[in-house]
Amino acid sequence: MLKPRLKKSALENPKAFREALVQWFAANGRDYPWRRTQEPYAILVSEVMLQQTQIATVLGRGFYTRFLEAFPDVETLAAADDEPLLKAWEGLGYYRRVRMLRETARAVIAEHGGEFPTELEALMKLPGVGRYTAGALRAFAADLPAVVVDGNVLRVLSRLMDFAEPVDGTAGQKQLWEWAETLADPARSRSYHSALMELGQKICRPGVPDCLGCPVAKFCQTREPESLPAKRQKTVITAVDEHALWLRDKKGRLLLHREGGKRREGLWKLPTRETAEISGLPQLDESLYTITRYRVTLRVHDGTAMKIFHPAPDEVWQEADSVLALAMPSPFRRVITRLLGEI
Ligand code: SF4
Repeated sequence: MLKPRLKKSALENPKAFREALVQWFAANGRDYPWRRTQEPYAILVSEVMLQQTQIATVLGRGFYTRFLEAFPDVETLAAADDEPLLKAWEGLGYYRRVRMLRETARAVIAEHGGEFPTELEALMKLPGVGRYTAGALRAFAADLPAVVVDGNVLRVLSRLMDFAEPVDGTAGQKQLWEWAETLADPARSRSYHSALMELGQKICRPGVPDCLGCPVAKFCQTREPESLPAKRQKTVITAVDEHALWLRDKKGRLLLHREGGKRREGLWKLPTRETAEISGLPQLDESLYTITRYRVTLRVHDGTAMKIFHPAPDEVWQEADSVLALAMPSPFRRVITRLLGEI
């Protein structure tokens, strides 16, 4: 549905735009744990978690609170071993991020005596801290002038400015960051950026926004908000099959594979095999999960039906009653829990 075009852009009167936004937030802002603190470490943890997971999941399933209980400060995180670290992150996926978070903590200790810097350049030199996260730390922890552009902000700005350029292209990004900088409130950085993000989550949401309830509607240039933000192209999801083996020895132990490689080192899962190797084995379980651009059908086969079996060097027999204490990707945890209960 076309809505009438209104003349005054936010760029023509940034003060009035900021005021409308911040006032609305003061009356309507939600209470999140990371909004109750200005501790940069706690804010960094929330930012990294929210890069990949919905707020409702992070809060509802207790990820944020549990992680901060296990690793309450940079010192404990910097000293953390892989096993408890991955365990505390389990269910969030993208394990590379929590290892990088530990690298950030180590750099804060080694290079800044355990205190987060506040200058943009120094923040961006920390491992894993890019332009967005550095801006978020300046705004939310230090309440200093900053530019903070996440997916919510991109959507709001592209609609406010009726911007037809793809927001995931270089030119589009450059323009939106420039507008974000012009509009940002240097005196109320923390509340302004919280407000802009909240607007994107609650009102100027993906799909059909709630323009009637929008506190900055009088600045908004678009007549077709549902068509924005423009994107270059949709991600193509590819369907793949993954074949895993369910094998228990005479003592009842379960065979697990310890993952290697930088990203997944230290995680455990069922051993996997190529189709040809397991063809003919009975299938015990089938489930679906999505990772990056893959939709995976995980099929678990009964390996006890194999005549000859030699575990690979990275495959280890684990006591069945303690396997669930190991860190493992959620799809494997679910199927192992199911099969341990059934078999
Ligand atoms: S909610 Fe509607 S009026 Fe408000 S910024 Fe988004 S598109 Fe514009």
